[in-house]
Amino acid sequence: MTRIAIVGGAGRMGQILARGLGALDDMDVVALVDPHEPAELHGARYWPDLAGLEPSAVDVVVDFSAAESVGHSARWCGAHGVALVVGTTGLSESHRAELAAAAERTGVVVASNFAIGAVLAERFAAWAAPYFERAEVIELHHDAKADAPSGTAIATAHAIAAARRDAGRGPIVDTTTTWTLADSRGADAGDGVRVHSVRLPGLVAHQEILFGGPGEGLLIRHDSYDRASFVPGVALAIRTMNRRAGLVEGLATLLG
Ligand code: NAD
Repeated sequence: MTRIAIVGGAGRMGQILARGLGALDDMDVVALVDPHEPAELHGARYWPDLAGLEPSAVDVVVDFSAAESVGHSARWCGAHGVALVVGTTGLSESHRAELAAAAERTGVVVASNFAIGAVLAERFAAWAAPYFERAEVIELHHDAKADAPSGTAIATAHAIAAARRDAGRGPIVDTTTTWTLADSRGADAGDGVRVHSVRLPGLVAHQEILFGGPGEGLLIRHDSYDRASFVPGVALAIRTMNRRAGLVEGLATLLG
């Protein structure tokens, strides 16, 4: 039985993960950590801070909280040799450096999207990328999302650019010369792969990858209709990661 503490346990993802992971035969959610008291405990104990936890009572910390709290999780997990799975997005270079430092002493997985379909969509996009002249990414999320564009959109754009480079295709050159509205062509994520962000109530997490070539187009779309879509990927990470040391970035590596 894997014993799990969820940092951000009172949040939208924290509550879904507590229910979803707790329902699995091989996992036991023992602690919900959050400055705010969770609406439901799902059989776990509540802690306002990781510092209150007995490290030997936890096998894996799952962090879906806020970027500024990830360093604290990394330091606590590194110091106590507790494995760490991070889904929190909007991480800066210094947050990533703290995760890398923790990974020298314990296992760390960090992924901007734990939906297995989204990981596959990125893989399919990299496969298609060399065969089309242009590619653009549109990511669509709920209006409470703090960061833009999504980490998934950036990773997808980078995967497309890398696949194009590997195939000897140069950067995409935007032929727009007149902007009636500033930024209407979105942001260049590198090599001319443009990313557009949409924020609307009612959405969860969605992404469209559009390819265009002479006389044809290809659309790859992934939808997370419900936050439950992230639970199987988190469970996969917990089950397959090396819990002793090493940094895994992105779920794709663990999908094989
Ligand atoms: P939310 O605002 O509903 O919940 C965040 C929770 O974290 C809140 O309860 C907040 O009190 C808590 N928190 C803040 N600082 C904390 C700290 N220092 N210690 C413990 N808890 C702390 O947000 P959400 O929708 O649940 O999303 C949380 C994060 O997960 C965001 O970064 C979001 O982008 C990310 N996310 C990632 C994936 C993925 O697949 N990787 C999927 C969905 C959401």
